[in-house]
Amino acid sequence: AKAGGKSCYSVFNSNMHAEAMSRLQIEAELNRGIEQNNFVLVYQPQIDLQNKALLGVEALVRFYHPKYGLMSPLKFIPILEDTGIIIKIGEWILQTALKQLKKWQDEGLSIKHVAVNLSATQFRNKHLLESVKEALTMSGVAAEYLELELTESLLLEDTESAVRTLKQFKDMGIRVTIDDFGTGYSSLSYLRRFPVDSLKIDKSFIKGVVSEPEDIAITVATIDMAHALGLNVIAEGVENEEQRDFLRDHGCDCAQGYFYSPPINHEDFSKWATTYRE
Ligand code: C2E
Ligand code: CA
Ligand code: CA
Ligand code: CA
Repeated sequence: AKAGGKSCYSVFNSNMHAEAMSRLQIEAELNRGIEQNNFVLVYQPQIDLQNKALLGVEALVRFYHPKYGLMSPLKFIPILEDTGIIIKIGEWILQTALKQLKKWQDEGLSIKHVAVNLSATQFRNKHLLESVKEALTMSGVAAEYLELELTESLLLEDTESAVRTLKQFKDMGIRVTIDDFGTGYSSLSYLRRFPVDSLKIDKSFIKGVVSEPEDIAITVATIDMAHALGLNVIAEGVENEEQRDFLRDHGCDCAQGYFYSPPINHEDFSKWATTYRE
């Protein structure tokens, strides 16, 4: 969780002392973030490539720092992780995403799931299952509508307990996606042991999927392997028609990216979803 710790606040200040000060300030601001409504979720559609319909939505967190403005999750998630604040924020994220899905379902939008990212500290937390159950109960959303996105590296930290946790999710009916697939580990044998439902091909491969032979090879191999293992496969970072067509032609199940929509607030998402047709 320490990786990238330095770069987290170097954007704010080049002076060392000021950096240390701002790190403490930022921690305090993050800590107050929920009460002060400085965290918001944005939503990005996930499209079924074969029938072109809206399938699900991924929730992504944003933080508006009172002084510095919009901060990227790549900057503040490591700070939340280091300080443990992620547990509290993570619960808020789950509850907010599920309540939003409930509202959309009540409005009549057809959305099959909301995908929520979990970080390492959340996944290791012994109260994770409890807080997931609580968020489901509070929102009135059935477990089958929740999808959790986990990275490979997080699952491989402690495979025994990861398998146990994944089995509990599966028993509850919650689906699990391996996020950033292909960027973490070269050994694929872990896929045999983890009861997961889908693989998400990282956007770094999708970027070159119509031009770079290596990216094409990795993407096609991932789609075929996922299907051979009975898993769904989703591509993130789809930015243009060529990428979309390539993925569709090669049997990829689902796509997400700027080509369809950037992550947007819930009001804009409602509008997007009611007018979307491909
Ligand atoms: P991720 O889960 O791999 O999310 C994908 C990132 O790609 C998002 O960045 C998204 O905005 C961006 N993206 C979406 N479509 C495109 C596209 O077509 N092209 C390009 N170039 N990028 C695209 P974002 O929102 O800045 O999030 C960055 C990372 O921060 C996420 O990577 C995830 O690891 C983490 N994160 C975001 N929200 C949460 C959260 O609620 N909880 C946790 N634990 N982590 C989060
Ligand atoms: Ca994700
Ligand atoms: Ca990714
Ligand atoms: Ca990621």
